[in-house]
Amino acid sequence: MGLQIEGNGPDTETKKVIEMGLKEKIMYWDDERNIGNSLIVTLNYGWHFGTGEALAGDAEHVRGFDTVKDAEQAVREASPCNCIECQKEVK
Ligand SMILES: [Zn+2]
Repeated sequence: MGLQIEGNGPDTETKKVIEMGLKEKIMYWDDERNIGNSLIVTLNYGWHFGTGEALAGDAEHVRGFDTVKDAEQAVREASPCNCIECQKEVK
């Protein structure tokens, strides 16, 4: 599945993040800030938020953010994920 963008994006900031090469790590970019929710980023299979190798059932693939800048930094720092779910999808 390719990158999906919803919400009030793609705005210029979203485009910038994608152009910086982060789309390889992003499956779903859902900017719901205009309706009072968060900017919700779902990582591609094979990546998780946080550091180190995720343990089974412990991987964080989805996170909400207040700003594009915060989301960009977290995606940039995302680590390879070998959880069972990702192993099934990454061949
Ligand atoms: Zn995973």
